[in-house]
Amino acid sequence: MKKTLFNSIIIALAIIILPVASYGQQQKAPKTPKYVFLFIGDGMSQAHISLTEAYLSSQKGVIGNEPFSFTKFPVLGMSSTYSASSFITCSAAAGTAISTGTKTNNLMLGVDPAGNKLTSITYKLKSKGYKIGIVTNVTLDQATPAAFYANSLKRNSYYDIAVQLPLSGHDFFGGGGFNSPNGADNNQPNIYKLVADGGYKIVRGYEGMKGVSKSEKVVLVQSEGKEGDLPFSIDRKEGDLSLKQIVSSAIDHLYSPAGFFIVAEGGKIDWSAHAHDGKTTIMEVLDFAEAIDEAYEFYLKHPDETLIIVTSDHDTGGISVGAKKGYNLNLKALDPQNASMAIDPENLEKYEEMNTKASIGWTTTSHSGVAVPVYSVGAGSLNFTGRYDNTDIPKLIFKSMNIPF
Ligand SMILES: [Zn+2]
Repeated sequence: MKKTLFNSIIIALAIIILPVASYGQQQKAPKTPKYVFLFIGDGMSQAHISLTEAYLSSQKGVIGNEPFSFTKFPVLGMSSTYSASSFITCSAAAGTAISTGTKTNNLMLGVDPAGNKLTSITYKLKSKGYKIGIVTNVTLDQATPAAFYANSLKRNSYYDIAVQLPLSGHDFFGGGGFNSPNGADNNQPNIYKLVADGGYKIVRGYEGMKGVSKSEKVVLVQSEGKEGDLPFSIDRKEGDLSLKQIVSSAIDHLYSPAGFFIVAEGGKIDWSAHAHDGKTTIMEVLDFAEAIDEAYEFYLKHPDETLIIVTSDHDTGGISVGAKKGYNLNLKALDPQNASMAIDPENLEKYEEMNTKASIGWTTTSHSGVAVPVYSVGAGSLNFTGRYDNTDIPKLIFKSMNIPF
């Protein structure tokens, strides 16, 4: 009887003290990030990440989940991805949800389902004095980067989207260039000229960033003759830009006491997953991670002022780690592949065979509707725990930055 009473007192005390203790901890260091990174792995679900971890383990000859880069981040949440028109979103609707906090129909960009223009958080942050960087390894007029500066009823109106870039006033753009620099019919004013006339310095290639003044607005693209999306990392040649180089350039160019917001897309995870190219997809996830490591190095120097969020817009390919009957995974079967299926179509059958042998499964050539992970580290990252919707992400970013949405 006595013991029961004693236990009750201890439990009661714990109920009173524990919340106070955890509240006290939160109070000890209320940190507001001044430097915010939002990384979007296009088409990257947790299955793509698990596959990559399993691949890294297999390279060491062990069974396991070898963590890498952002998968070591301490805070994990999960976001739903559906659009206003379908449970299975496209990148334009998902990009719009993440950039504006409002859902729209598939194929629409920066507008609501009725076609009304929405405002990307980049504009709100810009008006508060933050420097804005928009980075991708595909072209700058593709849906994910475009959702952060443009409005269009159709995501594939590439030229109409691109002309909005120099009007944005944002500080740094980096990517593969533009889809149709002279318009779909090749008869419009050249987009590079419009960008330069809009006050931007066009920098071609990573080396070109040397000597660029911090006061200049920059559009960094591939070197002359290589315009278009950046090659898959598995196909990268000397002189090709990489996502890591662009993120590094963005950090160097935008770092100032004013703070910055950098959104960076790993856009080709989606492309290789559409093509059911397992090895290239793994390499793209690792390449995306290398770009995130640039941000992490920055975070280590400014831990109290930096927030890094890593998420995705949707799953692509419905990839599975293990396929068909049996409990087998043999990722060593991918070892001989040293080019993407896209660049080496003659060996397509051979690569498909490798995927089958490795037991990588694919269930769709499009996207799937599964929720995607949100990894984060740094000031305000605890806001990103738990389960929420993709439209909550910009709201949680603003909450972390102590800015009303
Ligand atoms: Zn896609």
